[in-house]
Amino acid sequence: MRCLMCGKRKEESDSFFDFMNEKDPLCYSCRKRWIRNKEKRIIDKKLVDTSWLYNEAYASSLLQYKECYDEALQEIFLFPIKNYLKRKYHNRTLLLVPSSQKKVEERGFNHLEKMYQCLGMEMMNPFLKLSEEEQKEKSQKEREEIGQLIQLKEGIVIPKRILVVDDVITTGSTLKACLRLLPKDCDIKIYVNSTVLKEG
Ligand SMILES: [Zn+2]
Repeated sequence: MRCLMCGKRKEESDSFFDFMNEKDPLCYSCRKRWIRNKEKRIIDKKLVDTSWLYNEAYASSLLQYKECYDEALQEIFLFPIKNYLKRKYHNRTLLLVPSSQKKVEERGFNHLEKMYQCLGMEMMNPFLKLSEEEQKEKSQKEREEIGQLIQLKEGIVIPKRILVVDDVITTGSTLKACLRLLPKDCDIKIYVNSTVLKEG
């Protein structure tokens, strides 16, 4: 099998890691460039569970996947932590943090849905996100009514036990906007695969 990032043949590698993790779509040299995140991140008084630092290596993989429409890469992001996530959150429904509809249409796929489908868990896409342009097209009054770039889709019923998921957390503003739209009696956990280190 070839590593999905660098293209090297894994069976030709002499690394023990490659031998032990033959199903990992990345080779050891690519995988070890992703660094585990040890810093705690709190959003709206909730702990965000996260795995990786959003470093150069992670960012370039995510960019290639999202912006170069490289769907094959969908498996690399959760591969090493798939079983951990399934065990820890097995009875929850995944709620995807939204990309703007325009972005999803440009890509031709919902990158987050593809990324998390390997968990085999129930999944919902309850939020709508307007792009900057779409927001500009709205009148001032409409914008005030919306208040946010993000809305809950009409008629959506949110399950009681949920796991809100995203690919990277930067300022956390999108995540916060989503959390505020959820019913107060929901049992909410948050998992974001990578985290940008806070400055300072
Ligand atoms: Zn590689």
